[in-house]
Amino acid sequence: MTMHWAVENLGDGRRIFVSGAITEEADFQPLIALGGEGRLSLDLAGVEEINSCGVREWIHFVRRLSEQAPTYDLVRCSPAIVRQLNMVSNFRGSGRVGSVMLPYYCGNCGEEQFRLLELPPEGASPAIADLVPCGACGGEAEFDDLPESYVGFLARSQNGSRKG
Ligand SMILES: [Zn+2]
Repeated sequence: MTMHWAVENLGDGRRIFVSGAITEEADFQPLIALGGEGRLSLDLAGVEEINSCGVREWIHFVRRLSEQAPTYDLVRCSPAIVRQLNMVSNFRGSGRVGSVMLPYYCGNCGEEQFRLLELPPEGASPAIADLVPCGACGGEAEFDDLPESYVGFLARSQNGSRKG
């Protein structure tokens, strides 16, 4: 598996969709060039995995991107991305995390599903529901991670210092 990306031009900027696996083979060079004018969002819902070499490539990427586009957003962050946000303090660079995907699993029908969680610009972490109705069978789907720590990275200020 490798990394794929696509760009959508919006009225006031662009959205870059990143998907697949981020590894040492990921080439971010074309994406840095897109950080020019207008608002930039990185849509990360499709990122399924990121290995340790991929993390290094990513950090390098956001550092370069921060120079081009000081205000960009990370949106619809997949669980793989959220895991890194929690572990690596400079993973988002100068970007703001706008929303994350919440993973749910239905034990009744085996369906894995994702819900969007919009994050407030400041303040307390939003509550994550343990159980939601399963979109496939109408049963109960259970949060497939630890609700109390999933968005733990929010405890560090979104606008705080960029240590690391
Ligand atoms: Zn179900």
